[in-house]
Amino acid sequence: MTQPATSTEPRAVLRDQAPVATRPATGRPTVVIVGAGFGGLRAARALRKAPVNVVLVDRHNYHLFQPLLYQVATARLEPEEIARPVRAILRRQSNTEFRMTEVTGLDAGGKRIDTTDGPIAYDYLRRS
Ligand SMILES: Cc1cc2nc3c(=O)[nH]c(=O)nc-3n(C[C@H](O)[C@H](O)[C@H](O)COP(=O)(O)OP(=O)(O)OC[C@H]3O[C@@H](n4cnc5c(N)ncnc54)[C@H](O)[C@@H]3O)c2cc1C
Repeated sequence: MTQPATSTEPRAVLRDQAPVATRPATGRPTVVIVGAGFGGLRAARALRKAPVNVVLVDRHNYHLFQPLLYQVATARLEPEEIARPVRAILRRQSNTEFRMTEVTGLDAGGKRIDTTDGPIAYDYLRRS
């Protein structure tokens, strides 16, 4: 059985491919946030100075500014003008890492989410 990964790096950098389980323990709780939409980004930013490790998860590597989708549909804006890389948005937030993966399940009892890249353990979970 696959062991759930833990995210315990003291100053997590924006590396989504490093195996989280190998990171050194800090004793800080891990907050997993599912979705880098308006809600998820706001939650991540609110925790920027909190003594926690934040793991933000999204199936895409960009945040989409949905209210301006119509401008793209009417050719007034280019798609890249309303989609911004999540890592760029959070690059100065040292307690946060971004992982691009699809969430496929939740094990609330085991405090972990399942993703297409394996499980991620959490102490606290925020999902839309
Ligand atoms: C065309 C359009 C115009 C809009 N205009 C306005 C407006 O003018 N004013 C206004 O207030 N609101 C507007 N809205 C609504 C507003 O965009 C939404 O209310 C808001 O985006 C919701 O934010 P959210 O963070 O809850 O979800 P979302 O922004 O939808 O973000 C959810 C994120 O979770 C990710 N995700 C979902 N499932 C998974 C999974 N299984 N694994 C990994 N990642 C996952 C998605 O990729 C996404 O990035 C508009 C919406 C649309 C579509």
